[in-house]
Amino acid sequence: LMINAGLLVDVPHIAETGAAGIGLFRTELQFMIATAMPRISEQLSLYRAVLDAAGDKPVTFRTLDIGGDKVLPYMRQEEEENPALGWRAIRFCLQESAIFRAQLRAILRASAEGNVKLMYPMISGLEELTQSNELVEQCKAELRAAGVSFDENLEIGAMIEIPSAVMIADSLAKRVKFFSLGTNDLIQYTLAVDRLNEKIAYLYDPTHPAVLRLIKLTVEAAHRAGIWTGVCGEMASDPAMIPLLLGLGVDELSITPALVPPIKYIIRRLQLSECQELAAFALECESSAEILTRAQALVARAAPDWFGAGAK
Ligand code: PEP
Ligand code: MG
Repeated sequence: LMINAGLLVDVPHIAETGAAGIGLFRTELQFMIATAMPRISEQLSLYRAVLDAAGDKPVTFRTLDIGGDKVLPYMRQEEEENPALGWRAIRFCLQESAIFRAQLRAILRASAEGNVKLMYPMISGLEELTQSNELVEQCKAELRAAGVSFDENLEIGAMIEIPSAVMIADSLAKRVKFFSLGTNDLIQYTLAVDRLNEKIAYLYDPTHPAVLRLIKLTVEAAHRAGIWTGVCGEMASDPAMIPLLLGLGVDELSITPALVPPIKYIIRRLQLSECQELAAFALECESSAEILTRAQALVARAAPDWFGAGAK
């Protein structure tokens, strides 16, 4: 059970909540609150400070996920008709490779002083992953040549947040050490529902059978390849979703810090076998509403005091 973070002030939440580390550090926040592009030294000092505050706990730095709804005020960006489908995240980084390289070097250098993992956002195809891995290898070679130390065994993962990535998860799994399901985007792209549009929020549906089957496919592909899968989207911070995700075989949850204690409490009161039964039911079921009702009932039964049902 890990936390999501994006600022140095978030890091003490690890110790306060008893989480195992940071499963998603959104590095773009530093870029979004700055008035100019953060220099490599500024990036490095933030990553070092985060690792220092995290102690020996692991921190997964996600490389820049800008564009789309995350605009940098100091960078001219052409207006796009469909920003969510546009020039963003890994697409931006691979084209603006000087920015990407600087960040990779900062993360690699920081990895000498802590327990670091790195992951790429919005992978949609194999090429993006192989190109990103090549850039990391080039940055490592440059650092080695310059005698700068870094963690040679730094684990690299891919976020799975686009249905195409799920369908080629076997290929991706051979080239990374872990997957992290970004369900906020995975739901948006699977159901063609803008995650920011309130008018269609009723269609934004984590228990849609299509979403659950995609999660299952991802976990299966990962496990076949001997790697693990986490979930770092908001779905993992919803108590009712916990038995479903565990039953589907997810290995790690990275959640909103405030929810670590209640979700830990719920997990401790669930049997894995009942979670697996729920997941098996969900994978056969045609109705999202029915899946949700069953999932909520299981959590309410397992932890009635949390839901008030057992209150005297
Ligand atoms: C996600 O898409 O689920 C995710 C964790 O990334 P973000 O919310 O930053 O897009
Ligand atoms: Mg995302």
